[in-house]
This record gives sequence, structure tokens and C-alpha cells, in this order.
Amino acid sequence: MPKILELDQHVADLIAAGEVVERPASVVKELVENSIDAGAKVITVEITAGGMTYIRVTDNGCGIAPEDVTTAFLRHATSKLSGAEGLEAIGTLGFRGEALAAIAAVSRIELLTRERGAREGVSLSLVAGAIADISPAGCPEGTTIIVRDLFFNTPARKKFAKSDRAESSAIAVTILRCALSRPDVSVRYIRDGKAEFHTPGDSRADSCIYSLLGRDFSAGLLPAESSDETVSVTGFVSSPAAARGNRSFQFFFVNGRPIISRTLQAALEQAFANKLPSGRFPSCALYITTGHGNVDVNVHPAKTEVKFISDKQVFDGVYYAALGALNALGSGATLRTEDQGSGIRDQGSGDGGYEGTGVKGQVLGDGGYGSTAFSGKQGGGFKSMPADEFRTKYDSNSQLSIHNSKFSSGRAVSEPGVNSQYSPLNSQVNDFRVIGEALKTYIITEYQGSVWFIDKHAAHERLHFDALRKNGYEPMSQTLITPVICRHSREDIALILENTDMLEGLGFTVDSFGDDAVAVRRIPADIDIADAEPVLSDICAALSIGGTPTPAQRDGIYKTIACKAAIKAGKSSDFRELETLAARVFSGEAAECPHGRPVAFEITKHTLDKGFKRV
Ligand code: ADP
Ligand code: MG
Repeated sequence: MPKILELDQHVADLIAAGEVVERPASVVKELVENSIDAGAKVITVEITAGGMTYIRVTDNGCGIAPEDVTTAFLRHATSKLSGAEGLEAIGTLGFRGEALAAIAAVSRIELLTRERGAREGVSLSLVAGAIADISPAGCPEGTTIIVRDLFFNTPARKKFAKSDRAESSAIAVTILRCALSRPDVSVRYIRDGKAEFHTPGDSRADSCIYSLLGRDFSAGLLPAESSDETVSVTGFVSSPAAARGNRSFQFFFVNGRPIISRTLQAALEQAFANKLPSGRFPSCALYITTGHGNVDVNVHPAKTEVKFISDKQVFDGVYYAALGALNALGSGATLRTEDQGSGIRDQGSGDGGYEGTGVKGQVLGDGGYGSTAFSGKQGGGFKSMPADEFRTKYDSNSQLSIHNSKFSSGRAVSEPGVNSQYSPLNSQVNDFRVIGEALKTYIITEYQGSVWFIDKHAAHERLHFDALRKNGYEPMSQTLITPVICRHSREDIALILENTDMLEGLGFTVDSFGDDAVAVRRIPADIDIADAEPVLSDICAALSIGGTPTPAQRDGIYKTIACKAAIKAGKSSDFRELETLAARVFSGEAAECPHGRPVAFEITKHTLDKGFKRV
């Protein structure tokens, strides 16, 4: 057995640092939180080179007493918590006493601090967590911490740093959230010598939002408010007309802490149910206040998630605040038509009518034709193939067997004459005939004794989606003569710049372009130039800052691209294109569209014969 040793302090600190200090933005977050906890009313953050060489945070908070400055850098040293009871009701942003130790372990630090009312301050410098110098110093009240050469002693971590631009954007997002969380604190962000933004600190959420997110965003906001005995909510939600293609403008704060919460997201979106088309999301800045004992903030390493004692109470708080805001808007709160056109994903106008079995004009009821034909009545003769049924049938390993009876709604009609069976792998699939295209949307084909309708957009989308998912996918790109400049939120810019490699693999070449835009130089060959921006927004919606995309997030991205690259319903297609698509569908390549809608359904000869009373 190898001997078990206790790790020395330095190694232990390096390990801990890995958890707390993942990247420059996490350093900034911890330092700004410390300033807020110190009661600062003015906080300035300055960085250079994406925060890798220099981060300075200055505040006018309470300062640190000379006798405490070195303790502050010890692990688990905190002034915010004295015993386990304190953990039950935490009123400060920090409480673990880890941040300063962790940051110090992987950088060179200079600290300058003077307690409120003290005659002089103290200056301390540390290198990789070891004290290099400590001396009295004249300085303003408050604290300044300078962090230089982040990760200088952990080359492996340094390698993971993204471009300066990507790190600066992530920092901007972090500061934006902190600044938004506290309208009573004036926050200023300076990057490479240039003032990026600053909030007035006048305690008004609206002026804080305005200074950070601009006039257009502010103009679309409605005041929102609700309260009961335990939870109160104030802030703003966007009007339905100002909805966006993703959630990056949904800001929630619980007792002043910026948090990410699916419960609150769901509450907000539920209030907007039926007011927004799918793929559009409300924005908000909502400030939730509840007793400290009602939330557990000690559930997430970066403290960005919390647990509520009662999810339902906060859900209701947010839901009713948002609903009240919408109701106050009156009938104007319903979707304005111009929204329909902008950025609605996947459902082009020709796409709408075939969810499940609800095909318009669906006919062929049992009760004889003449009168019921084309009444829209749900009969039994045919229906669209349910997704999972189709999937099993088209599982390329299994013998595909299509029994018409399976597709009749609930009636077991056995039809000996029309029992088509083939294996998609062996099939030559040349025994079909494209009859034509209906409504610029459906390919009508005759195949093995039945008439099949194929949704050309859904089929094409599926094929493209599967191609994207394959290992070694090689995108075909078009280089744009003039790069498309896409404006996005800071959060989205950060996401895009963090994921340029992944985007490259999908056929997008994207560069930074100022602070609120990116330049798109190449896009996949089959995507319209006009779609470049919406596709990028949608991709952002599927990602989250600071992590590699999960398989589900990747699928979300592929779906977006496949949908935009697929031939559109509502536009007539070349006959050859229709034939190629039909051949691929019948060979079992496309079972259902990536959104789970069917790609094809069948009307059997028997059904037709019955309709015409031939049988
Ligand atoms: P935590 O915030 O969890 O207490 P930190 O490692 O971030 O742990 O900070 C350790 C301690 O240093 C804090 O508890 C606080 O007393 C002190 N401190 C850190 N930053 C500041 C600041 N800007 N102003 C005043 N005190 C500070
Ligand atoms: Mg802290």
C-alpha cells in the first residue's frame, strides 16, 4: 500500500484554487462580491489582456484591519460566518473564506487597504500565496486588490485560457450581473484603459438597467411586482413584443445574489405562455427578496444556484409579478404580428399545420364519404405516423415492415393485399415514383402500392441533422464577400468567442468585432446569409458560459443548423431534389425530423378504394 500523506498547504491550496478560480472572470466575480460584502458603494474593476496579466478591483468598503490582512488569505478564513448555525441564514455573498486563498495561490497579489476611520492603511504583497512584503501605507479608505499574472505557476490551467477577447467578454458579463444585482452600488468596468460601462448607483433598477443594457432594451420593459408574507418580487419583465431568441437577458436575483434557476425561468415563461411563439423568450431583471432562512446558498461551488425551502412560493412570486405586468399592459400584451416574422425557429409559415395527426382536411371517416369528406373530422383511414412508431420501423438494423393497419387510428384493419415489407438496407429503393409536389411543401409519391406524402423540409432537416452528428463531419462553407456583422448581447458575444473552434467545425468562421458584435466571415453553404445572425443567436441559446457543450446542447445546435439549412416549405423545389429526398426517405435514412415531427405518412390503396367504395 502506498503511504497516505497529508498534502502540504501549497498543494492543497492549488487544488482548491482549481475549483474556485477557473478563469479570470471567476476571480473578478469573487473580488467584486467581496467588495459588495464590505459595504462598498463604489466599485471599479480594471483589467488588461483578458484579465490574465492584470485585474484590479477597488472599493470604498469597510477595509481590512492591519492585523487581519494576512489571515484573510488563509483558507477558510472569513469574517462572515462564525459557526455552523450561521450557514442556515447567509446574508453575504461570500461565506466560505476560500476565494482570497485560492486566487493568491495562483497569482501575484498586491493588497492595499485602510479601514474606515483608521489613520493609515496597510499594503501586502503575495507571490503564489506566500507573503513577499507587508508594510504600513497611506491610502484611501477601502480596499484595492491587484491580481497579476494569473496561473503563472499552473501552466496547465493557463493553457485553457481562451483569447483575451473571450475572457474580457466573460468578465464583462460577470460584472454586468453583479452591477445589475445592486442598483445601489455604482460599478465601473475599464478594459485595456477604456471605460466599458458604469452604473449610477442611485438605487434605481431602471437607471441601472439602462446604463448596462441600453435604451432599446429598457424601452421594452414593464414594471413587475408581487408580494406575499414570505416572498417579494420587484423589477421588470420585457413586453411580449420585445421577446428575444434566447434567454440570455433573463436576470434573477435572490436577496441580491445573481442566480440561475430553472424554477424561476419556468415561472417567468409560464406567465408568458400563449403570448409568445415557441422559440421566443421573455427577458427580465427580477429582484426576489425572502428571509435568508428560506434559501440555501451553499449548494453550488460558484454560488450561482440556490435551493429554496419552498419552490412553489418563489415560483408563484415570479409568476404573479410577470403576469401582473402583462395584464397591466392590457390587450396590448398579446403578440404583435411583426414578432411572428422575426426569428421564429423551425416553423416557417408553411410548416404549421401538421402536428401529430391534426392534418387539416383530414378525411376518410368510417361513415361513408359524400357528406363527411374533407370535413376535418378525425377518421380512421390514415394518419401521420407517430414519431416513435416510425423510429422503430426505420431502425436500420431491423427489418422494416409496414403494415397499414398499424397506421390506422386504433382500428385493426388487416389488409392482406397491401402488406409491404422491405429492408431499408437491402432495398434498392427505385420502386417509387414522385408524382409531384403539393402546396410547395409535400412530396407526393407512389410507393409499394400506397400513396405517400413526404414533408420535404422535415425530411431534409433530418438528413442534415444526422450528417452533422456524424464523426468527422466536414462542413461545406461559403466565404462571405462582405462579412456579416452580427450584434449580440455581451453574454452571447462571450459564448460565441468561447466556442469559435466548435463553430469552425460546423462551417462558421467568426471573429470578434467591437464589444457588442462579431464578424461572421464564413457560414455553411446551405444557410442563407440572412439567417447567419438568427442561427448564431440560437446556437448561443443552446450554450452556457464556461463549459463545454453537453451532448444535448450539441444536438440543440445541430437542430438549429439543420433547420435553417433545410429546403424550406413554401418554396417550390426542383424535381430532382424531390426525387433524391424521397429515395433517401424510403431507404430509411430519415425517420422523423429532429424536432420529433413525422417526415412521411401513407394513404393505402385500400383506404383510397374504400373511400371510393370500391371495396
Ligand atoms: P469570504 O468572502 O467567503 O469570507 P474571501 O476569501 O473572499 O472569503 O475573503 C476573506 C475575508 O477577507 C473576508 O471574509 C473579509 O473579511 C475580507 N475581505 C476580502 N475582501 C475584502 C474587501 N474588499 N473589503 C473588506 N474585507 C475584505
Ligand atoms: Mg469572498
